[in-house]
Amino acid sequence: MKRIFIAARSNPEHMAELFRSELPAHEVFTQQPQPGDAPVPYIVVGRPTPGVIAAVPGLELVLSLNAGIEHLLASGEVPDHLPIVRLVDDGLADGMSDWVLAHALAWHRNLATYADLQAKREWAPQQEKLARERTVAVLGAGALGSQVAGHFVRFGFKTRVWSRSGRPIDGATSFAGRPALMDAVSGADILVNLLPMTSETANVVDATVLNALAKGAFFINGARGGHVVDADLIDALDRGQVSGAALDVFRTEPLPAADPLWSHPKVLLSPHVAAPTHAHTAVAEMAENIRRFERGEKLPHLVDRTLGY
Ligand code: NAP
Repeated sequence: MKRIFIAARSNPEHMAELFRSELPAHEVFTQQPQPGDAPVPYIVVGRPTPGVIAAVPGLELVLSLNAGIEHLLASGEVPDHLPIVRLVDDGLADGMSDWVLAHALAWHRNLATYADLQAKREWAPQQEKLARERTVAVLGAGALGSQVAGHFVRFGFKTRVWSRSGRPIDGATSFAGRPALMDAVSGADILVNLLPMTSETANVVDATVLNALAKGAFFINGARGGHVVDADLIDALDRGQVSGAALDVFRTEPLPAADPLWSHPKVLLSPHVAAPTHAHTAVAEMAENIRRFERGEKLPHLVDRTLGY
């Protein structure tokens, strides 16, 4: 009987129950196994407690509870020979799509402005544009970026997508690699960041990128705080170059109470909830990956340690 160790920090028993119904022939447990125990080929883990992974005997595959795995690589907790599968499931992609589109459409249709005007009992129609008159630039064309970009296309926005390889998205214009970054963002009204956190993508949203956007553009960050130079963003907001920002992720989480982003009038904050892991969709995907692994099939979404995602 193959064994699966659920090392999730939040509600591991619930996840174990879901695994048991997906894979009834496997032994699923939540207690830390010890060296010398029977082999445990699979671990399901988000942010590992130091030493947890190393203590698992006979590990063959690491199933990440998150789409972003930079913390797993940076921690050095996963030995080089062990494959890591990122979490890619429709729960994450649908969650991120809702969150990004909610902010983009609210900005596009001036909802915050009308809320302010309502509070003052002011009847003041704003200049209303059509989606087709707005340009959106999405950084990242992966599991999340490609779905989000597809929604923007369907709403009628002029949509650009920037990725390492220039991955094509129906109805959008694709841009490949660092030399094309400025072409991708120049004049965009909405900038959406859905990149993975790697040495190449750190600090990518800086003054140069923000200044290249259309005057008064809106910025949406659903990826990682380390992608953004916060001082450059605050400066761009203060100058009106960027008219607002929706931020779900931060360099330090929870965001420290003294951070100026908390009180910035043009910033909308959420506590890293854009696309939380939903146990039922995540377990279905991870169980399918275990079946694929046991059939000797190639696993989708294996982390490439050289690229860092
Ligand atoms: P993914 O499928 O790995 O896609 C990554 C995309 O970024 C790919 O299109 C890739 O290009 C592109 N990329 C990588 N390095 C690049 C570079 N140096 N220059 C240009 N493009 C680059 O990742 P995902 O599943 O969409 O997730 C994206 C990120 O979202 C995660 O890493 C995580 O940090 C974040 N996230 C946040 C939340 C939340 O709740 N806020 C939830 C889930 C995920 P190629 O297509 O050429 O490979």
